[in-house]
Amino acid sequence: MRKIFKVVHVGEPVLRQEARPLSVAEIRSSEIQQLIEAMRETMYDAPGVGLAAPQIGLPLQLAVIEDKPEYTEKAPREALAERERCPVPFHVIVNPKIRPDEGEEEVRFYEGCLSLPGHLALVPRRRNVVVDCLDQNGEPRVIKASGWYARILQHEIDHLAGTLYIDRMLPRSFATVENLNRFFGGVFGPPPLKEHTAESNRAC
Ligand code: ZN
Repeated sequence: MRKIFKVVHVGEPVLRQEARPLSVAEIRSSEIQQLIEAMRETMYDAPGVGLAAPQIGLPLQLAVIEDKPEYTEKAPREALAERERCPVPFHVIVNPKIRPDEGEEEVRFYEGCLSLPGHLALVPRRRNVVVDCLDQNGEPRVIKASGWYARILQHEIDHLAGTLYIDRMLPRSFATVENLNRFFGGVFGPPPLKEHTAESNRAC
């Protein structure tokens, strides 16, 4: 049976907590494997490109990620190239750590969060990251990511430290989705702060 969790919204204390790491034995347990499947279904149901355990009320260092091709098939190609957004297959990150000394370059794009529905803001993020984590089987993994995937990783890993995008956003760019569509041509329209767009045309 499909299990869909309720996604908790900003103001829930669990979203501001430091999540606890999982042991390899815990990751391999049937409880956590079932939890991963339910988080995957919850992410698809939302829909979203990532979901961290605190967003379903569990302070655990666990997140699921998948950027499906169908999420972007209607988006302008230039906007996708600018964001370096390419499909990412389903995978799990556990106990992730971003290497602090790699990827100094910063890019700014609108992003949102399932825990703050209906809003978006420009958020500066590193363009490239290297992440050390465990996978769904408890095996160590090194993820080298750039562009939108790097953004997703930073957003989800922030959740595990009790950080939300509103802590990092350019405050004056904060808008409802409705008003972004109405006044700025939507999430792919020209940003109000033109100097914050990235210069890139790299394709997938
Ligand atoms: Zn989020």
